[in-house]
Amino acid sequence: MDIIAIEKQLVDWESEKIYGHDDPSMQYTKDGFIIQIYKPFSCRTGYTIAAWGPDGLVVKLPVPYSFEQLVANTRVCGVCGVIGEMVRLEFARRVCPACRKALRGYEMSLDIYLYIEGVVHVADSIPVRVDGGISELSRAQWDELYPGIEPVVIPGHETSCVYSDNITHNLNYMAREAGIYMELWRPEEIGIELAGQLVKPLMAGYFLLNTEPDRFRKFNPENGWGTYEVLVEFVKGYLAACAAYPEATVRVSR
Ligand SMILES: [Zn+2]
Repeated sequence: MDIIAIEKQLVDWESEKIYGHDDPSMQYTKDGFIIQIYKPFSCRTGYTIAAWGPDGLVVKLPVPYSFEQLVANTRVCGVCGVIGEMVRLEFARRVCPACRKALRGYEMSLDIYLYIEGVVHVADSIPVRVDGGISELSRAQWDELYPGIEPVVIPGHETSCVYSDNITHNLNYMAREAGIYMELWRPEEIGIELAGQLVKPLMAGYFLLNTEPDRFRKFNPENGWGTYEVLVEFVKGYLAACAAYPEATVRVSR
């Protein structure tokens, strides 16, 4: 979806900055509808866009964008696309009654962040989507993969966020089996404030996950959203970051 092209069409919407400071992310409102566009800043490396209807539920953005189609989409299921009366799932998802029944219990994702005092410089990067996650390429790697195509480059910047990642809530049972559910999902409830405090428990969990894969694969979610391999990679990356920045402050968003 070309988010920048959509934003250009919101000229008759009321607009304001979401955070009111340097972060360029914007909120647009019109007739009870809200569109938020998150732009690259600090730990955020790409653009994301989301829309909500006057009923507070997420609305699928039409491509190409038109306000008439946005209004029509309040009667479209965000999961299966069926048209009709929609209901709320979890916080604000707009789904048909059948999808709500099927999806109850499968919620969104856990975000984790490590913040340091002061700032580090992040070099120019080219974000690409790989297997449902975001990966970064160098210019040379991009040119090899996509010769002749100009990449979207996120300019280098200063940030105090040295690491961030996210993982589906579907994997919390597997994490519990590995003994690291509280460390990953609810660190503040067990007194964890600094990344260094996570190194030992995550190392133990990582070891356990790797030595008994069959025990953990049994917890692969039936709907296929998240797998054993995803949890292992998540823990591996988080562990390396915690070891590299033991003084960083841990923050999570569930
Ligand atoms: Zn549906």
